Amino acid sequence: MILHENFSLKDILWYKIGGIARYLIDVENSEDVEKAAEFIKRNKLTRAFFIGQGSNLIFTDDFFDGAVVRFIAPKKSSIRLVGNSTVEAFAGELLDNVIKFSFENSLIGLEWAGGLPGTVGAAIRGNVGAFGGEIKDNVKEVTLLEITDKKMKLITLKRFELKFGYRNSLVKKHRNLIVVSSLFRLTPTDAAGVQRARQTYLSNIEYRNRRHPLEFPNCGSVFKNITDPEKIKSVLEIFPDLEEKIKRDWHGKVAMGYLIKRLDLAEFRVGNAQISPKHCNFIVNLGGAKAEDVLSIIKTIQEKFQETFEFTPEVEVEIVC
Ligand SMILES: Cc1cc2nc3c(=O)[nH]c(=O)nc-3n(C[C@H](O)[C@H](O)[C@H](O)COP(=O)(O)OP(=O)(O)OC[C@H]3O[C@@H](n4cnc5c(N)ncnc54)[C@H](O)[C@@H]3O)c2cc1C
Repeated sequence: MILHENFSLKDILWYKIGGIARYLIDVENSEDVEKAAEFIKRNKLTRAFFIGQGSNLIFTDDFFDGAVVRFIAPKKSSIRLVGNSTVEAFAGELLDNVIKFSFENSLIGLEWAGGLPGTVGAAIRGNVGAFGGEIKDNVKEVTLLEITDKKMKLITLKRFELKFGYRNSLVKKHRNLIVVSSLFRLTPTDAAGVQRARQTYLSNIEYRNRRHPLEFPNCGSVFKNITDPEKIKSVLEIFPDLEEKIKRDWHGKVAMGYLIKRLDLAEFRVGNAQISPKHCNFIVNLGGAKAEDVLSIIKTIQEKFQETFEFTPEVEVEIVC
């Protein structure tokens, strides 16, 4: 475990935005995670927040008076084969490295996640998904640190006990559950099978490079796409021409990026934060943007939606105040 004091979060978070944390604690194995939890308890810190790469977070510019515990990949990789078709990884490993390791061992199943940033622990917590895949379909069991006021203990939960849902899990509902490691059940295949899976993985990365503004720091999709039938009805009242597109292209949802663009907000800028013209559900950091700039853009979008459709779109990214 490595302890840093008064650490500038913008230097490590994916978005390059965030204030100073009283402590940053880097953890790279299960013992480190327990030591970090003990440190927080011993020092009676009232605030603690566990992070991976910070690719789904907006930390405000304020002082974080507590400990940010960062999961990092150990110097010597923890990713290993267990039996024929199971891969184990520490929560701080990049999901991408688990995919690469699997291919090297003739295992497939995670290729849908090509280009998806982040660590194993956060992927489990948020049940990440893309291109029709979801991490829950590959999870066998997860080891967690359960922290209560009195004690902490390592527990192992099977897939069905993790209560996965759309971008949701038991871990997300309980802040005192910290993912320490995970077992992934994958599919053994031959060289041609790996080749096909690798092709899917690479074309997903290529799609993201083409469609997303990855040339600037960002936090992924800022808003959830609209799925609520009532809200979709409100959108159709204003833009009736979208009916076909919702059915044909968006699988029954309304794409937030499209609507933000249609409401003439592409390239809207506050300070050095801007709605990306490449994909309007991304707010990019053009360099030195502040959290307050991003939050101000989010508020503008929400107000515009309220004014136009009479509902406020739901934020997908997590804001840590
Ligand atoms: C360009 C871009 C594209 C993206 N595309 C997608 C996509 O297609 N699909 C998708 O689902 N997501 C997507 N995301 C979001 C992001 O990739 C995921 O949310 C990812 O799981 C975040 O990983 P992280 O390590 O950066 O987690 P962080 O952002 O650091 O943390 C996210 C959350 O997980 C919690 N957490 C972190 N580690 C642990 C742990 N060990 N135990 C318990 N809780 C933990 C944190 O407290 C926080 O609440 C995208 C993001 C970006 C920037």
